[in-house]
Amino acid sequence: MIYTDTREKSVKVDFKTAVVNGMNEKTGGLYIPVAFPKLDSAFINRNTEPSFRDIAFEMAKPYVEGEIPDSDLAAIIQDAYPFPAKTVAVDAATYVLELFHGPTCAFKDFGARFMARVMSYFNRGENSPLHILVATSGDTGSAVGSAFHNVPGLDVTILYPEGKVSKLQEKQLSTFDGNVRALKVKGTFDDCQKLVKTAFTDAELRAKLRLSSANSINISRLLPQSFYYMYSSLVVRNSSWRNNKLEHPAIVAVVPSGNFGNLTSGLIAREMGAPITGFVAATNSNRTIPDWIATGDYNARPSVETYANAMDVGAPSNYERIQAMYSLEQVRSLFASYWLDNDGILESIKDCFNRTGYTIDPHGAVGWKAWSDIRNGGFEKLTNGEKGDSTKPGLTPNLPAWKDQVLNKNALGIILETAHPAKFSDTVQHAIGRTPVVPDRLERVLKLEDRAIPMENNYEIFKAWLLENL
Ligand SMILES: *Cc1c(COP(=O)(O)O)cnc(C)c1O
Repeated sequence: MIYTDTREKSVKVDFKTAVVNGMNEKTGGLYIPVAFPKLDSAFINRNTEPSFRDIAFEMAKPYVEGEIPDSDLAAIIQDAYPFPAKTVAVDAATYVLELFHGPTCAFKDFGARFMARVMSYFNRGENSPLHILVATSGDTGSAVGSAFHNVPGLDVTILYPEGKVSKLQEKQLSTFDGNVRALKVKGTFDDCQKLVKTAFTDAELRAKLRLSSANSINISRLLPQSFYYMYSSLVVRNSSWRNNKLEHPAIVAVVPSGNFGNLTSGLIAREMGAPITGFVAATNSNRTIPDWIATGDYNARPSVETYANAMDVGAPSNYERIQAMYSLEQVRSLFASYWLDNDGILESIKDCFNRTGYTIDPHGAVGWKAWSDIRNGGFEKLTNGEKGDSTKPGLTPNLPAWKDQVLNKNALGIILETAHPAKFSDTVQHAIGRTPVVPDRLERVLKLEDRAIPMENNYEIFKAWLLENL
């Protein structure tokens, strides 16, 4: 596969270059495949859907063709995904796609574990390790640390702002041993990011250490997230036919979004033939994308803090990829869009629990409320002349092409549950008066020894530490 750049169409690189560089330093653009090949329809249209790993293999294949042989790709996928992507029906028209069954209990495990194994593959034959530096405000660091832990040829240093991540998040970041370590920086997330960025532009340091990033803009994190969209949409299509004789339902993926990487992966799955009719871009008070869809003007802005903090993004990095793939008109016809404030998030967790008995986390809760409002007449109101207002929480004034299928009750929603509710137990407790059951793998991490290394917010001290310790 050839990869081009969102800013400069003449750029042509292979998969390895796109993965190792992360982004195109020269243009500031993001890598994107030149094509999204459709899966064989006989494969997609089997009466019983293929396994998650078979789907992952078939979907990954064209993107690594000529660079990773089939047998190695199969081994990478086998090793990356020992856990399921579970689709659970919560009511007659709503499914929840649980993406939290991986080691760190968030969907980022799907992308990070594939990326780690691909990077390790491309580092074979080198006689020095590749050093990954990653700044994190919480969830990304633990997914990356866990994904790279004990992966040969790779070495990870995580930087996080001391005192600014939750107790559970800190445990998830700071308890690795071996090839992964965490530095707790006396500063903010932005300070951590600045230390990492300065290191990448430091020629003296780069002459001594092979450095790379594990940023969410890396194409090798984005592609694998498309696997579960394909898998889940086939599960929903097949089971709604088997159980309810529903023919050709409109399947709508409801995606709680921050940087819009997850949603971009959904677009890739749809291009490759997943039976997904449309998307709901669901956000918290960081409503840059709803405003863009409503007005056509894209205005990045500083982020605001919310209960769904993994989506606190004011300048979503994958906007650039969405824009390279589709015109605004195409986005408006494919997407409904929705945003919810903190009070709405609490109400939604409660509403979901009261109606279905399902305990949803604050990110998934944005999706639940968006889907409920859409099913309960949201589009009718807009069709009947209510103007709508993207500056207020709720449905963005935009009518996607699939609105009639919702009106005709022929639509099924898949809400992507991006994290386990136990990762946000204070908010969940606040909403429904009980705390979610903590999975064993989170319980275990709470008992591990904290190994974080204190670090000043000072580049020279950071650099000296890297040179002495890596
Ligand atoms: C990262 C994250 C998101 C946002 O995903 P994007 O790909 O950045 O849109 C949503 N929910 C959780 C729990 C996350 O960790």
